[in-house]
Amino acid sequence: MADLRSLTKFAVNVIGIRMPGNWDKPLGYDGYARFVVVYWDYANDDVFITDGLTGESGGAWWLYTNLVERDARQEITSALMACGAPDPLSKWPLGDSDNEATHGLILDRFAHGLWVAKLNEAIPFLRQQHHEATPDKNATALALVRQRKELFEEETIRSFFPCHCNRGWILSLDYYVPCPECRRSGRIEVIPQQVIL
Ligand SMILES: [Zn+2]
Repeated sequence: MADLRSLTKFAVNVIGIRMPGNWDKPLGYDGYARFVVVYWDYANDDVFITDGLTGESGGAWWLYTNLVERDARQEITSALMACGAPDPLSKWPLGDSDNEATHGLILDRFAHGLWVAKLNEAIPFLRQQHHEATPDKNATALALVRQRKELFEEETIRSFFPCHCNRGWILSLDYYVPCPECRRSGRIEVIPQQVIL
């Protein structure tokens, strides 16, 4: 079972940290799974978020770096050491531009908790939660193809400038809500000027 009880068997809780609701959304997560893992993808040099089934990069990386480098640096470092990372400060286990990630941050989207775990243990745990929900794999695959096609068409036809929000989301008290200005897209469409002949 992908629940808190089995999570505690391999993951270490980041004590004293309560994550804002929807924190995962500006980072690019669009699904409904309870647990997602976040780390720095060394190959793409970008933040990566996954629920074990689908993954996204290209999100609001500064929310992640603010958390791990500033707001919860100490708490996360302690948790990483407790989770078997020998020397987190010399080789950052969550990945950076020079190091491949060995560990990830597990976000409990329902309870707003934060955990650290080795990626090779976290990923099977994340996959487990989908097996329990038994999603229609064909439908998921088709939706992904559709989504990708739409994205491609959008990129080729229109031009945009980025909105001031966090990729379509703004922090309201303790919760990320969709940005009303760009309607969650994170960008404002450039209206082409009419050419009058
Ligand atoms: Zn916006």
